[in-house]
Amino acid sequence: MSVTRRETLAGMAATAASLAGAGRARAHSPGWDAIVIGAGTFGAWTAEMLRRAGKRVLLVDAWAPANARASSGGESRMTRGAYGGDEIYSRMASESLVEWKRLSEALALPIFHQTGVLFFFEKEEDYALKSLDVNKRLGLSMERLEPKTLKKRWPQLDWTGIRFGLYEPDFGALMARRAIESLVASFVRAGGAYRHAAIAAPKQGQPLKHLTTSDGEKLYADQYVFACGPWLKTLFPSLLGDRLFVTRQEVFYFAPDAGDRRFGPSALPGWADFNEGDLYYGFPDLEGRGFKIAHDRHGPPVDPDAEDRTPSPEALAVVRAYMARRFPALAKAPLSEARVCQYENSANGDFLIDRHPDWPQVLLVGMGSGHGFKHGPAVGRRAADLILGNGSLEPRFSLKTKSARQDRAVY
Ligand SMILES: Cc1cc2nc3c(=O)[nH]c(=O)nc-3n(C[C@H](O)[C@H](O)[C@H](O)COP(=O)(O)OP(=O)(O)OC[C@H]3O[C@@H](n4cnc5c(N)ncnc54)[C@H](O)[C@@H]3O)c2cc1C
Repeated sequence: MSVTRRETLAGMAATAASLAGAGRARAHSPGWDAIVIGAGTFGAWTAEMLRRAGKRVLLVDAWAPANARASSGGESRMTRGAYGGDEIYSRMASESLVEWKRLSEALALPIFHQTGVLFFFEKEEDYALKSLDVNKRLGLSMERLEPKTLKKRWPQLDWTGIRFGLYEPDFGALMARRAIESLVASFVRAGGAYRHAAIAAPKQGQPLKHLTTSDGEKLYADQYVFACGPWLKTLFPSLLGDRLFVTRQEVFYFAPDAGDRRFGPSALPGWADFNEGDLYYGFPDLEGRGFKIAHDRHGPPVDPDAEDRTPSPEALAVVRAYMARRFPALAKAPLSEARVCQYENSANGDFLIDRHPDWPQVLLVGMGSGHGFKHGPAVGRRAADLILGNGSLEPRFSLKTKSARQDRAVY
């Protein structure tokens, strides 16, 4: 395999190490126990969990782990326990945090910044009451804060109209791209194999005996895991074409004034303005990248290959208007960076972890729905358990429950 300029440094390290891994594994079998297609958070963690279970695993990506167009290729992603009444996600976030911290501690640069996460609400919301209840039951710290306390602790925000806040001190920000690049490199160092290759769509109506790469090579395994984010729709159009909703999402970073510490991680947590489900969220100026802000509303449908990733003036105007209201000191802050990515949504926001109905040796893992990154380790464990025959299918993650009518319910 040639090393191309598109591979990142971590990708190159992984690639070099993978050749040794691949050679070792192939010495005793022509095939793999499992091939995982897609090295985003879901695929990379599935591969790692299978490797930990002693399986010979090949992880493949068409571009690179956490590449620029993958959802997992962003700079930072929020991790939080609060999920309203959706306890399954609070549990998975908490279980996953243990793995993220372990990975973070093993590296020179942090993967997890424990900034804390602050939600705020204009009225008593069911979501907030249920989050308090679930967190209490799971032993996850959460403080309810009244306006007086909010104003005192974070005077850099304008708290007009805010009824109360919920603060989770144990959660924060995951440095997404760095996390996945590091995970894949450590997977390879521990004996897993990684290949840079694009896998062609399996042929509908025919038995699946092997995978074929774009340059015609055949790859054999007992089990195949497709964790291809929005590209699952391209690979399985008849199955997922009308059940996977890929939407354009824009994220902006702004530079605070020189020397202004009010928007740094020691002064500001990760935050989310719930705003009756019309969410804005962001991070402090992590590692000097800028104050991050995004509007969580689903954008127009896009194709991840054809999408024009030039940030739009309309989306910029929306976040600027919000900042002028809630973060007045940043109203005129210069834009330092912007990214255009995509959510790969299921109808209601639940993930997909299920077998392909025609090929029992194929597991489909995806539909992160704008909140999947943090759950990578827990999703990987569930997917690996299904492959290993240890786990049972979670009904909420089944294909059967994936509707063709969008009605977002998970936040
Ligand atoms: C702007 C934005 C903000 C977000 N914020 C948060 C947040 O704060 N917290 C959170 O938890 N989540 C967040 N998410 C959601 C989260 O990032 C995604 O749910 C998650 O990254 C999805 O991971 P994945 O592994 O399913 O897909 P991806 O990361 O897209 O990975 C899929 C991989 O498959 C590869 N691939 C595709 N086709 C092929 C093929 N034919 N052959 C080989 N490889 C292939 C691709 O190259 C890619 O690397 C956000 C998403 C976006 C876009």
